[in-house]
Amino acid sequence: MQEIVQKLIGPFGGAVTVGADGAIAVPKPAALAAPATDQLADAAVFGAAAWRDAARWLLWEIGQAVGVRPASIHDLYMARGQGKAHGFTVPAINIRGMAYDSARALFRAAVKRQAGAFICEIARSEMSYTDQRPAEYVSVLLAAALREGFRGPLFVQGDHFQANAKKYAADPEGEIGAIKALITEAVAAGFYNIDIDTSTLVDLKQPTLDTQQRVNYDRAAELTAVIREEEPDGVTVSVGAEIGEVGGKNSTLEDQHAFMDGYVKALKGRGASLVGVSKISVQTGTSHGGVVLPDGSIAEVKLDLEVLKKLSEDARKRYGMAGAVQHGASTLPPEAFVRFPEVEAAEIHLATAFQSLLFDHEATPAAFKAKIYDWLRENAAGERKSGETDEQFFYKTRKKALGPFKKDFWSLPEAVRGALGEALEDQFSFLFEALKVGHSTELVARYVKAPVLRRAGPAAAMAAAPDDADAGE
Ligand SMILES: [Zn+2]
Repeated sequence: MQEIVQKLIGPFGGAVTVGADGAIAVPKPAALAAPATDQLADAAVFGAAAWRDAARWLLWEIGQAVGVRPASIHDLYMARGQGKAHGFTVPAINIRGMAYDSARALFRAAVKRQAGAFICEIARSEMSYTDQRPAEYVSVLLAAALREGFRGPLFVQGDHFQANAKKYAADPEGEIGAIKALITEAVAAGFYNIDIDTSTLVDLKQPTLDTQQRVNYDRAAELTAVIREEEPDGVTVSVGAEIGEVGGKNSTLEDQHAFMDGYVKALKGRGASLVGVSKISVQTGTSHGGVVLPDGSIAEVKLDLEVLKKLSEDARKRYGMAGAVQHGASTLPPEAFVRFPEVEAAEIHLATAFQSLLFDHEATPAAFKAKIYDWLRENAAGERKSGETDEQFFYKTRKKALGPFKKDFWSLPEAVRGALGEALEDQFSFLFEALKVGHSTELVARYVKAPVLRRAGPAAAMAAAPDDADAGE
């Protein structure tokens, strides 16, 4: 293993060293912003097991050494709950396709805009269809951050750690057990922000709001306790819960109270000192991916910002949380984004627009796209609904090609990747400005401590927890 580590750091030409005790040092950090880091990222994803594990360990240790450390945003969110910080909305960005180049674009934008308050996330479902387990995802983000000279806490989030309602009905403990296994895997990998999503278990047929939300809050409390058990010393994982399934009916203040009052009590029952959620995901009119019309364009969304404002304020004043979280936001029109900080939304989740850019940008080779669409015609045929146009079918299903075509995306010609990276960087820059997280590095430094968490030697990859391609994102 020592030999593999030596070979992997060779291209850094002495900028990265291994001490006699096996500890990594980085005497020349500026040398990390070079192609040698690309090779490390490649090995961390596509390398044979021993190389992959060594590369992942190296990226983690280099990050620890130079100050790019996976961290929890919890303390910043608590400060916001206490009114000490306001006027911004944290973007949580789902990096799906062409992950390394996409993340590089994100960190480039962050460095230029001095943004620190942003999150990289991936949902349970996305891990499956984009073929990115937590350990790989963290490694790719670390490599991209180092490559672009980003420094500061790295907020990596598990999005929609979601219970599948059908599977839960058939085998409740089995389905919750699968989420627990995913929590264990993700926290071990460096996910110190997790959005639990048991909102799929809300039962609107129940007579009272409390009984409607009961399974949701009981299970959310149970999973919070698991996270507290798994988190490393010195880290309080930022945990989010969800009250209204995204795409379903709009959330109300009464729903939020029913959930939170039940959750707080249920969590107390599991341990008086357990720390609860830092934010709450609500439904105010968006849907994941947007609604695509027959001509391929996206339907206009009726986003209820007044509801978002009201729920956010209530979350802060009554429960001391950062506020409410809005999902499915990336397909909104550009002018919508400035409204989120105005209504003091704590966080918004953005995914589909970046994926759409990868497929639809003029730089994406037509033959490459055709190859993927041929694959979808064959392999996603079961998802075709009658009356659906080709545009609707491909828009809806093309995310499923990101895993099978992962290597192809990563291997696109440099000119193509460069053009896509630039376009993504523009989008990220726009979002940072609109959401008022430009110049947020100081704010993050004031409230977030990212303790050093060194890892002993390259460990064998953990057994992967089952994922669920049908869960939301
Ligand atoms: Zn979502």
